[in-house]
Amino acid sequence: MIQKSRFAPSPTGYLHLGNARTALFAWLAARHDGGHFLLRIEDTDRERSPQQYEDALLEDLRWLGLDWDEGPDCGGDFGPYRQMERLGIYGELYQRLLDAHLAYPCYCTPEMLAAEREAQRAAGRAPRYSGRCRELDAAARAELEALGRQPSLRFRVASTGRLRVDDLIWGEREYSLEDLGDFVIRRSDGSPAFFFANAVDDALMGVDLVLRGEDHLSNTPRQILILQALGMKAPTYGHLPLLLGSDGQPLSKRHGAASLRDLRAEGFLPEAVRNYLARLGHHYGEADGRLLTDEELRREFRLDAIGRAPAHFDLAQLEHWQAQAVQSSTTEQLAQWLAPVLDESLSPAERLAFVELIRPNIRFPAQARDWLQRFVRDPEPDEEALDVLRETPEAFWMVAAATFEAENGDWKDWVTALQEASGRRGRALFQPLRAALTGRLHGPELAGWCRLLGAERCRQRLSQAGRRARVAV
Ligand code: GLU
Ligand code: ZN
Repeated sequence: MIQKSRFAPSPTGYLHLGNARTALFAWLAARHDGGHFLLRIEDTDRERSPQQYEDALLEDLRWLGLDWDEGPDCGGDFGPYRQMERLGIYGELYQRLLDAHLAYPCYCTPEMLAAEREAQRAAGRAPRYSGRCRELDAAARAELEALGRQPSLRFRVASTGRLRVDDLIWGEREYSLEDLGDFVIRRSDGSPAFFFANAVDDALMGVDLVLRGEDHLSNTPRQILILQALGMKAPTYGHLPLLLGSDGQPLSKRHGAASLRDLRAEGFLPEAVRNYLARLGHHYGEADGRLLTDEELRREFRLDAIGRAPAHFDLAQLEHWQAQAVQSSTTEQLAQWLAPVLDESLSPAERLAFVELIRPNIRFPAQARDWLQRFVRDPEPDEEALDVLRETPEAFWMVAAATFEAENGDWKDWVTALQEASGRRGRALFQPLRAALTGRLHGPELAGWCRLLGAERCRQRLSQAGRRARVAV
């Protein structure tokens, strides 16, 4: 049973899809068990974390349908939820580690450390901290400080022994402590290092499940060592396989999507994005084939259905879910989604009827805009429609107009009468009508289109087609 999971982004840019998937999985895992979900802002990279990105992050997560019980906006019992507001908490913990000789100040400069790594590499050894400052005495420290050196704080790792780490997705791994080397837990500018703040915050906030990207897998042993040293309980860690583009390269704009914002701007519905992301590296078994409601996504989510293979972003799949989401939205939801493209030319009632009419023919708002233009103005026929209009003789349009009048524009009666009078049926009958009334050969159901368009505009379009035919001969 998961009591509490979390998402802990660093707000250094817009939420990209890999992180959005991580957030969604962590949320689904918590909500599956009725557990809590918290949001923590890891803003320790001061220059790169402007407020604007934090605001955008919260907005994007909400758009995706996520909610949280604790976070920077709503507070909670274990706050604050921005790491830069927790420096006092970290300070006390650093002191505890110092007092227990589990941490020590390191005065090495970046140049010294780089040279050290270089020498190790040249000697064919894996680079790690040499331990130069491990045993400095008070006098040596004072001397270095007199030189103006600002120390970082390093965690002292035992030089022998092994650490076993269990991962929900990758199983058990063993690490030699010697290979880890002493690592920085507080930078020389006083800010907390990722390993440290991230690990202690999870423990202090009562998080028992950490789902995060595979790129953090190798950080876990260090984080567990910190928690052990502080006598804190480590959460269960699960590292999600990377999310790559269809070509196996890191996901970027040229794969059709990089950030959640991009998808939203293109008109993707959150239901579609949720359904898609929830299946990237996770399967729903029997329920995989159909669009799942929010409730179903949570109920059917299973941590043991997360695979180890990298997930590949596939725009066609996402568009498939988009089509499903459009089909399953209510009329009101559709109207709201399309509100930015449906202008004032339609009354509220017409708007609802119109979105229902075009629902099967759209996946994105831009397509709705196109149909709207074809609806409110005399539609400019596309290439195919133009061909059909050119091939249809004026006589047909005269019969069409006459029967339309005779049957008072009633679709069924009109079609029956026109069939008899013109001798055309099926495609031969409907293609020219469609071309004249919509400017395209495929689209919304024609009877409904005519009804909504009203007799007057139908009449105009039929006679316009007739004029075009006359000019053409
Ligand atoms: N701030 C880290 C990141 O965005 C968090 C990693 C984690 O979830 O533990 O990569
Ligand atoms: Zn040092």
